[in-house]
Amino acid sequence: MISVVIPAYNEEENVPLLYEKLKKVLDALGEEYEIIFVDDGSTDRTPEILKKLAEKDPRVKVIRFRRNYGQTAALQAGFEYAKGDVVITMDADLQNDPEDIPRLLEKLNEGYDIVSGWRKDRKDPFLSRKLPSAIANWIISKVTGVKLHDYGCTLKAYRSDITKRYRLYGDMHRFLPALAKRFGAKIAELPVKHHPRIYGKSKYGIDRTLRVILDIFLVKFLNEYITRPLYLFGGLGFLLFFIGFLLGLYLTFVKLVLGQDIGHRPLLILSVLLILSGIQLVSTGLIAELIVRTYYESKGEKPYVIEETINLEERKGHDASA
Ligand code: UDP
Ligand code: MG
Repeated sequence: MISVVIPAYNEEENVPLLYEKLKKVLDALGEEYEIIFVDDGSTDRTPEILKKLAEKDPRVKVIRFRRNYGQTAALQAGFEYAKGDVVITMDADLQNDPEDIPRLLEKLNEGYDIVSGWRKDRKDPFLSRKLPSAIANWIISKVTGVKLHDYGCTLKAYRSDITKRYRLYGDMHRFLPALAKRFGAKIAELPVKHHPRIYGKSKYGIDRTLRVILDIFLVKFLNEYITRPLYLFGGLGFLLFFIGFLLGLYLTFVKLVLGQDIGHRPLLILSVLLILSGIQLVSTGLIAELIVRTYYESKGEKPYVIEETINLEERKGHDASA
């Protein structure tokens, strides 16, 4: 079964058109499917339109948020309710093309867990959208090690084994493939069509740049240090402490052996500062370790994902999620 998850925020003109196109493509596939619209607190006629669609077609399902929570929350809700073995996500604004879905599914069946759309010929303004996005894609690829040309394309196909593991907060929808690296997802990229937005307005501007940069740090941290935060904080802490300690030794030597005054020396302040921040960082690392343990234990989760077991019985508890 295929679940299509579509976040929609004030897309009244687009939703009916998208439904028609989507229905055609999905009917032709000849598989069972559901279309889950997540109305992200729209203030236009989107909710009524979705309600009508759902009354006519029981395969249309609607999650309606009380207010606007953002695209990440909408996707997370869709993932939680999706019943399919395969989950397709796409925008409601007709910029993604449902006709690409069969190709995404084909690629997925070659043995991937995520097939990510690549808007090779993207129809958006250059300066405000395409350039920042190109830079962001480059940085995210470098930092996370998951190399994709287009992180921002919502049109993707996932195995539900992956989508069920996501615990998304903030603006994490931009990093879904990178986050899936934590549970060993095999990821492929496929060029898809992209259309200019005709109805309604884009919900994002250039202001998201700073948030994206901070989020990159978060993703890197989640991917590499979530199960051992002490290595990150403690490593840096020890380094700073050690440098501070050496400076302190040198100053002690200057004072006791050479008999010079050290009270006025900037080096003294630096030494004290380094020692203190070193201790702080190590303690932060230790506290982070406790928090991580609480996190996994409280959810009964394991910090690893098992592909298969042989000659072993099922055990209680779940694998990792992010
Ligand atoms: N969207 C949403 N909640 C928001 C902002 C956007 O559900 O707070 C939806 C929006 O309706 C669209 C998709 O997310 O279906 C992508 O938004 P948009 O087209 O504005 O982004 P862009 O294509 O300009 O990056
Ligand atoms: Mg769009």
